[in-house]
Amino acid sequence: MSNKLSRRSFIKAGLITAGAVAAAGVPHPLSAKDAGTELCTLLDLQQCIACGACVEACREVNEEKFPMPQGSMPDMIPRNKVKIADWSSAEKRRIDDRLTPYNWLFIQQAVGEYNGEAFEINIPRRCMHCRNAPCSNLCPFGAAFTQNNGIVRIHPDVCMGGAKCKAVCPWHIPERQSGVGLHLDLLPQYAGNGVMYKCDRCYDRLKEGELPACIEVCPEDVQQIGPHNEIVEEAHQMAKEMGGFIYGETENGGTNTIYVSPVPFDELNRAIDIGPGSPHLGPAADSMASANTMEQ
Ligand code: SF4
Ligand code: SF4
Ligand code: SF4
Repeated sequence: MSNKLSRRSFIKAGLITAGAVAAAGVPHPLSAKDAGTELCTLLDLQQCIACGACVEACREVNEEKFPMPQGSMPDMIPRNKVKIADWSSAEKRRIDDRLTPYNWLFIQQAVGEYNGEAFEINIPRRCMHCRNAPCSNLCPFGAAFTQNNGIVRIHPDVCMGGAKCKAVCPWHIPERQSGVGLHLDLLPQYAGNGVMYKCDRCYDRLKEGELPACIEVCPEDVQQIGPHNEIVEEAHQMAKEMGGFIYGETENGGTNTIYVSPVPFDELNRAIDIGPGSPHLGPAADSMASANTMEQ
């Protein structure tokens, strides 16, 4: 077994052991992580075979968190300002090739040629869990927030659906579902028309010492999770061994999602479909730096 694999197993085993301790009713090391250790994920893009198991698992374990619109979806005033976004039909709920309020993870495919050789790289995409997240900092209602272990969440009972989080996110990750949320009770025609949804890094599973579902089910061990510093170190080691490239360490001022690829990310960015629900892999300047500048 290579050192790389041993180390991966160590990080996974650490979390699983923590779960076993939790089950025995003893405080486990993840309590310490919740109390402050910033968690980061590392994705080895050489390994992803686009089997979709992670996408399925994400949908299954998070089903109870998905929006359940009931009744009408009021038009906003003024009518063209905030459009109804409805992903709740059986057909739309099945969409798994982009981000939606019912699909928080999808596999992006990049096919092309680099250095005279053909490549096909599969890229699991979801929220990057930025270290100084603009969505969390700039949400006018405090609905988006960052846990002390670095997980960025949107509280569905507080979110008004105004989509500020999406506007300020360099990857426009959060997706809105109309017909749900607080605005229906408070200002049905004047607020943001719904609630924003995105990956919450399976915060509830982590709290119980379990791995995020997408990491647990992956047959190829594409992802690992651990303390930010250790993951960054591991990412550099991995990139060095494969002669590869890193994305997510510095983008948007730094994130807690680090991709390592044998093909440069500007090549991957050229090869993927980019559009609504399908984020880019290009440069992302520190948006909080510009937000701070604008405030001055
Ligand atoms: S489960 Fe693993 S190999 Fe399959 S699509 Fe997801 S990341 Fe890729
Ligand atoms: S990727 Fe976007 S939604 Fe996720 S934490 Fe960063 S700014 Fe927020
Ligand atoms: S961490 Fe959890 S919520 Fe996020 S993509 Fe993976 S399974 Fe889905």
